[in-house]
Amino acid sequence: MKITSATFVMSNSQVALCPKDRLAEYAFIGRSNVGKSSLINMLTQRKSLAKTSGRPGKTQLINHFLINKKWFLVDLPGYGYARVSKKSKKTFQKFITSYFEEREQLVNAFVLIDIRHEPQKIDFEFMEWLGTHQIPFSIVFTKADKLKASEVETHVANYLAKMTEEAWEEAPKHFVTSSSKYTGRDDLLHYIEQVNASLS
Ligand code: GDP
Repeated sequence: MKITSATFVMSNSQVALCPKDRLAEYAFIGRSNVGKSSLINMLTQRKSLAKTSGRPGKTQLINHFLINKKWFLVDLPGYGYARVSKKSKKTFQKFITSYFEEREQLVNAFVLIDIRHEPQKIDFEFMEWLGTHQIPFSIVFTKADKLKASEVETHVANYLAKMTEEAWEEAPKHFVTSSSKYTGRDDLLHYIEQVNASLS
């Protein structure tokens, strides 16, 4: 897919106020610093469409970008636990779970994982939450340039193996990316293009 246009539409913290258009929507989410803004800028080839971590402000908002006047790329804030009771029952921030529960236009969530790290509980719990809510998702491994090619393969294989050991019957679709080297861009955009075509 060639990106011919990428424009910021709106930021807000309420799902009810998100764009009313019935365009296919793809959400990008992960822990803070995972490389989400860099990935969005790399995919859209816009230097600062998404604000990188250094710049505070939009971190707790749902950001909609219109791509090729055809689909929405949604930049979601980093997830974390919000403690809801004294029993310290942990849950994800309400407006993130509301977004996934209510946003009917959502086609796929891309969960970003830093390829260098061991599997983290919070990422597994978040993906499990998506699974139990039947929200389709794929994993996007980020910062692949920080590892040697051989390490990339073993890290990905170990990560996916841990998923199937712990909770999932099969590992989700995944992409390996590097924003600084443009790795994975074609694959990811091609996937979105295919899904868009299957919907029309
Ligand atoms: P966000 O908080 O998830 O939006 O993360 P950012 O995109 O702001 O990236 C966090 C840090 O990781 C920044 O210092 C980026 O320069 C760095 N970073 C992001 N993506 C890559 C990548 O693909 N390769 C390398 N080497 N560094 C990256």
